[in-house]
Amino acid sequence: MRCEVVAIGTELLLGQIVDTNSSWIGEQLALAGIDSHFQVKVGDNFARMEATLRQALDRSDAVICCGGLGPTQDDITRDVIARIMGVEMRRDEAIVEKIRVMFESRGRVMADNNRRQADVPLGATVIPQMPGTAPGLICPVGDKVIYALPGVPYELHEMMRETVLPDLRRRSGQTAVIRSRVLRTWGQSESGLAELLAARVEELDDLGNPTLAFQASGIEGIKVRITVKAEDEAAAEEVLAAEEAGIRALLGEIFFGVDGQTMEHVVVELLRARGQSFAIAESLTGGLMALRLSEVDPEMTVFRGARVAPTETSGTSAEEPALAAARGARQAFGSDFGLAVHLEDAPHLEDEAAGPSKTVALAISSAETERATRISLPGDRRRLRNFAVISLLNYLRLTLSRG
Ligand code: ATP
Ligand code: MG
Repeated sequence: MRCEVVAIGTELLLGQIVDTNSSWIGEQLALAGIDSHFQVKVGDNFARMEATLRQALDRSDAVICCGGLGPTQDDITRDVIARIMGVEMRRDEAIVEKIRVMFESRGRVMADNNRRQADVPLGATVIPQMPGTAPGLICPVGDKVIYALPGVPYELHEMMRETVLPDLRRRSGQTAVIRSRVLRTWGQSESGLAELLAARVEELDDLGNPTLAFQASGIEGIKVRITVKAEDEAAAEEVLAAEEAGIRALLGEIFFGVDGQTMEHVVVELLRARGQSFAIAESLTGGLMALRLSEVDPEMTVFRGARVAPTETSGTSAEEPALAAARGARQAFGSDFGLAVHLEDAPHLEDEAAGPSKTVALAISSAETERATRISLPGDRRRLRNFAVISLLNYLRLTLSRG
């Protein structure tokens, strides 16, 4: 079973939208064990869309296309598919009614244009999930199939998960389940990480299942993804849990969370479990740390507050300004811990990654103990600020876990 992805929309060609749908679909297909050899983008042009879809059907068994299902004149995906199927379109009045109700519930009136969205090529079936106004379609073409999905990512995600992936799996005769888990690390380079896990990676290469992959992209630390293929959910969970335990033992304290657990989430929950609280002093990060923390602790029961102000740069050691700021935050908010990060060099930051790295001081203050350290971070503004947030929270996490 080979599945090709066709993203439709002139905006994609002009660089006005980044085609995140194709990369997301690609990831889902890989996780489902379905081969996908081509991803194509094509503008909203009838002849070129038709040629692209025909070519995709020639070399693949299934085609997932996204976009162009909207109500406007340039949304012609339905029409192109009807041409390829060699059938007429029929307006599905039940869908018209669904769209009308959807508009009504938002206090709006359905435009006449929207009726077009209920046009279904004869022989195609409508995907039951319909989170937006565009119905998705399953369109058989001989023994092959085109899935037409809306371009809006959350609508597409729901239809993929609930209908397209199960349908593809059924068609390919595949009954195995594929599950994965991401282990998140902070404080080690990708090559350092690869070295830590080298022996296990080699063992798994021989076994073939589960598999390990490194994901170094982004600014939230390097991730290790475990992927397992098993007979059923329970068996997959068992292998995942065992592999996770083994990998975590190898990673040691650079492991901080799984899947969607960010550093701020992990640190807030760690303190919550201990019945403790903290506050921060920010200058370099300009409120970014408070923003990120308030998203995981909106009641501010653990994260008690932030002071955004320049760091006073008096004192004899490089760490002293950061320590004074951490102490000040702890006292001002009456919390158990105070945290601060201070940029030692001139505060001028570059936008580009090429700039020289910078030294920042991290400090933690509690009634019992104070500690500080200095680390080097990349020089561009976006990474420097985010790395500073994560590094400071990680410093508290390590301080707590080391006792
Ligand atoms: P709608 O009913 O909203 O018009 P549609 O099926 O016609 O849905 P498009 O008009 O192509 O879809 O795209 C709607 C929106 O979805 C775009 O404005 C864009 O934000 C997003 N989108 C479309 N295609 C992609 C893509 N390939 N990757 C990421 N986002 C996309
Ligand atoms: Mg549209």
